[in-house]
Amino acid sequence: MRSIRTRFDTGFLVIVIGSMAGAIVAALWTSPWWALGIALGGEAVALGWWLRARRARRTRPDAPGQLRAARALRQSRLRAQLHDVRDAVGALADAVVLFDDQGRVRWFNAAATRLLGVRREHVGQSLAQWLDGSELGAWLRTNAAQPATDLPAPADASLRLAATIIPFGQRLKVLLARDISTLSRLEQVRRDFVANVSHELRTPLTVIHGYLELLDPADVPELAPVLGEMRMQSQRMQQIVEDLLTLSRLETREALPDEEVAMIPLLETLRREAVALSQGRHRISVEATTGVRLRGSIHHLHSAFSNLVSNAVRYTPSGGEIVIGWRQTADGGAIFSVRDSGLGISAEHLARLTERFYRVSSSRSRESGGTGLGLSIVKHVLNLHQGRLVIESEPGRGSTFSCVMEASRVLPPDHGGIFRAETPAN
Ligand code: ADP
Repeated sequence: MRSIRTRFDTGFLVIVIGSMAGAIVAALWTSPWWALGIALGGEAVALGWWLRARRARRTRPDAPGQLRAARALRQSRLRAQLHDVRDAVGALADAVVLFDDQGRVRWFNAAATRLLGVRREHVGQSLAQWLDGSELGAWLRTNAAQPATDLPAPADASLRLAATIIPFGQRLKVLLARDISTLSRLEQVRRDFVANVSHELRTPLTVIHGYLELLDPADVPELAPVLGEMRMQSQRMQQIVEDLLTLSRLETREALPDEEVAMIPLLETLRREAVALSQGRHRISVEATTGVRLRGSIHHLHSAFSNLVSNAVRYTPSGGEIVIGWRQTADGGAIFSVRDSGLGISAEHLARLTERFYRVSSSRSRESGGTGLGLSIVKHVLNLHQGRLVIESEPGRGSTFSCVMEASRVLPPDHGGIFRAETPAN
């Protein structure tokens, strides 16, 4: 294929030479004016040709050489961009490991070597296999769908990691691991501080409370109201310290004992506790539509459920209704619930209720003997049983607190009966 430049050069020469020859012939055989006209006409056509060819050359790189050059330029730009992206990911402080659907390593950055110990020879090998024996490896094999926090770094056990897996494209995934050692240390300092302060306060408070109990208001009648208030406040402080210690212990536990919790007798115990606390002010009933049991810690589950029951009693005005429920779900799980017809909670508070010391109304919580830590304890106990707390509420109409337990925590009933009991309000 002839190039545009060759075609242009030949055509241009033919027109110029042709017009010059025409002009000479015209000068010899006709008049000089004819010769001048032919010469100028030829030059004009040649100029027009040249201009068209130049425009075509600029807009149409149809020569194979030019196409090759353009392609090479594009490729080198893409290569440069790819290098920039790789350099940027390579310089990240977070470990990044790219792997395929078979779990084989395709690429990793420098932080992955520092935190996870990935090296060049691991490329093509199974990610979970070379992390075998580490907590990160166990997480990758069993629970990688959920992000993990606070795992020891395989390459340096003094460092703590938060890890997550991000799928992308058709077959690729990225393991992202972030060094959270500083955050984890601060969290540990906070936990230790709260646990130590609570522990240190326990003995002096017991002593003060003991002496206050010894003082008989009848001996000093003028101080009787003061003594009563002091006793109440020291009791409240003791309860706060006990709840803080419970929370600290729960935070440091990775698991609780696995016992068989018979729910029907536990529901009856909870009902009796509610009746005692209510002192006849509420209608209290149990609705159990299943006899299934739970696998977990009897002591902690009892304490969490009884927290919800005592809240229902404390935040439901006299004459209200409280229903303690136990039912199975379609997926084989089960739900323990406490429904009340009490004060209710407006939507903006719901998400924060399980934070420590979060109260909708501090005065009401204090008056009813609350520490502001009850729901926080409930959440921790449920987390340790892989359960979750669901709160539904409407101001003025009441609330339902549901503990949703997974099927893996549900055990078959030891007897088939369905249990219903009711205590009417006085
Ligand atoms: P407290 O010791 O103050 O009751 P909790 O952690 O048990 O602390 O509860 C946090 C807050 O949630 C309470 O202060 C109260 O405002 C609200 N709350 C909990 N249960 C109920 C309920 N059944 N009805 C209305 N409000 C509730």
